[in-house]
Amino acid sequence: MNLLNQKIVTEGKVLSDSVLKVDGFLNHQVDPQLMQEIGEEFASRFAGEGVTKIVTLESSGIAPSVMTGLMMGIPVVFARKRKSLTLTDRLYTAGVYSYTKNETNDISISSDYLSSDDVVLVIDDFLANGQAADGLISLVEQAGASLAGIGIVIEKGFQDGGTMLRNRGIRVESLAIIDSLAGGNVTFHAKEASAK
Ligand code: 5GP
Repeated sequence: MNLLNQKIVTEGKVLSDSVLKVDGFLNHQVDPQLMQEIGEEFASRFAGEGVTKIVTLESSGIAPSVMTGLMMGIPVVFARKRKSLTLTDRLYTAGVYSYTKNETNDISISSDYLSSDDVVLVIDDFLANGQAADGLISLVEQAGASLAGIGIVIEKGFQDGGTMLRNRGIRVESLAIIDSLAGGNVTFHAKEASAK
């Protein structure tokens, strides 16, 4: 995705050799045109998989997920990070260690919105060590739903999450894969850079 790669280069801020800040279009301010293109791309990559529901994590997964849900004509459920008083029903829950915040949160989805009839596409903004994806997959498994795959906006290929998930046989589609942030420079994975 040209637009995504361009945005990462022009608006992303490399905070360290392992953290990229993209508050200008994904994590704080949201670029709707980019989200639309992301939604179209995920919808096209997962077309024909019989996906019935998108599952993501609040808050930064919601924008790309809603656009994907719009394109696929299916609902989006976002896992909540804190137990809400309104979440009184039976919950699927998993503990997720946050890479950027250095804390562990319980994430939950009400059983009202995920069932064994669902075929799920999990979407998230970043893939680093795979903790968030792992927690979301656990919620899908607790519901007895099937997993069609995982759509990631930005994968940091130099961290272990992508390899860990693909080694488990899970289909992971990342729209941008970053090989390195060393020296304050973003280096994209060669295949992504040439193919998209
Ligand atoms: P993981 O669970 O795969 O280790 O990390 C993924 C989660 O951590 C994402 O949901 C994202 O919110 C956050 N994250 C991890 N690395 C980065 C990063 O370099 N930049 C930003 N903005 N978020 C990140």
